[in-house]
Amino acid sequence: KALLEAVDLHKSFGPTPALDGAGLSVRAGEVVAVMGPSGSGKSTLLHCLAGILTPDRGTVRYRDVELSAMGDGPRSELRRSDFGFVFQFGQLVPELTCLENVALPLRLGSVKRRAAESRAREWLERLEVADVADKRPGETSGGQGQRVAVARALVTGPRVVFADEPTGALDSLNGERVMQLLVTAAKETNAAVVLVTHEARVAAYSDREVVVRDGRSREMEPVR
Ligand code: ADP
Ligand code: ADP
Repeated sequence: KALLEAVDLHKSFGPTPALDGAGLSVRAGEVVAVMGPSGSGKSTLLHCLAGILTPDRGTVRYRDVELSAMGDGPRSELRRSDFGFVFQFGQLVPELTCLENVALPLRLGSVKRRAAESRAREWLERLEVADVADKRPGETSGGQGQRVAVARALVTGPRVVFADEPTGALDSLNGERVMQLLVTAAKETNAAVVLVTHEARVAAYSDREVVVRDGRSREMEPVR
């Protein structure tokens, strides 16, 4: 049964629709790769699934609740409690240390500082970047920063992790390692992952692939 499901999404920003009947569903513990050329609608689909963007038409259901039927407040609260996000460029807060960055989502959820930082440190260890805990993001390498970003996305125990080109700024070795760590952590916690990528090597870490083209999605035949 789907944990998160989008059906027949339409979204336009201008004359040409960004989404023109796209859909996608993901189960708990499943990693789905969203592939397709630049400008095909992948990010728009991901933003609709995550409740960041409201489609013009179509439905997004999370645990049988329709996101567009929720108020903005409860939807933001749901994003904070149940979803995690990783972007191409970590989007870490530059003024905070890496440890403080990872602890931040817990602090925003009112976890006390000591408990938050202790959990943050465990996640930095899991992502093999405990050594950058006291550095600021600008003092780390790209690969380290992206591992910190993955730790920050997972520290709250999200049910769904949205990753938009999470390895796009990394060399292939670092990219593969970040994918391994992300997928392992997601499987261990039974989280679903929606992974947007245009790299087949990155999509190879998924259980299923969905291809988006001109705002429409198509399920790929399983090859593994
Ligand atoms: P992808 O992630 O596959 O590269 P996007 O979902 O980012 O594709 O974009 C799909 C189409 O929608 C593109 O033509 C893009 O220019 C357009 N688009 C996306 N977001 C916006 C926006 N906020 N304002 C205007 N046009 C947008
Ligand atoms: P990556 O592919 O992970 O970005 P790099 O080849 O850039 O790795 O970096 C290799 C090592 O150099 C890293 O382990 C990191 O400690 C160090 N390093 C890279 N960039 C910086 C930087 N801007 N500031 C401090 N140390 C850095």
